[in-house]
Amino acid sequence: MIKESNLNPGQASYREEVLAGDYWMHELKAGETLRIVDSHGNQAADTLFYSAADPSERYSAIDTLREQGNVYLTAGTTLLSNLGNPMLEITADTCGRHDTLGGACATESNTVRYSLEKKTMHACRDSWMLAVAENEHFGVSKRDITHNINFFMNVPVTEDGHLTFADGISEAGKYVEMTAKMDVIVLISNCPQLNNPCNAYNPTPVEVVIWS
Ligand SMILES: [Zn+2]
Repeated sequence: MIKESNLNPGQASYREEVLAGDYWMHELKAGETLRIVDSHGNQAADTLFYSAADPSERYSAIDTLREQGNVYLTAGTTLLSNLGNPMLEITADTCGRHDTLGGACATESNTVRYSLEKKTMHACRDSWMLAVAENEHFGVSKRDITHNINFFMNVPVTEDGHLTFADGISEAGKYVEMTAKMDVIVLISNCPQLNNPCNAYNPTPVEVVIWS
């Protein structure tokens, strides 16, 4: 569902550009709103959420999809934790829908999907592993890396129940916005994938904006 935001970036409390292949790990307080901007279009922002109070409580794709009865995420979606608690609500979305079924790229999945020599290519899972290693104060470790959201990524479910990686439906300047319902740790890998059209074979920066 397309829904524009009333928030003014000029009044934001935080703005940062996240380069393709980089990660962004940040605490968002309850009541704060985070916008992720697909600055150049057709990028994928692979995102994980944890409760800041106890990172063993984290975003659950399964609970979120079951409760909303829809396989895509968009404005109006409440992102639920593995304990069934609301973590964030998507409050605006100019892209229209986002994937949470496709998973993140990993060196292992790149070898299975594409070819063995893709093993050494940078993947989202590497960025998350680096993020948790460089930010031990959040209390998140390798074992906490689970299902994620692929903001801006188009992974249609076909009529016969398969998933396909398709060309994006996002474009430059489109954004998704969400308000935290609890204190959350946000971990984004700005996807470096070069083998499928999730980012048009050309990874580009995204911008993160926070309103307190
Ligand atoms: Zn990726």
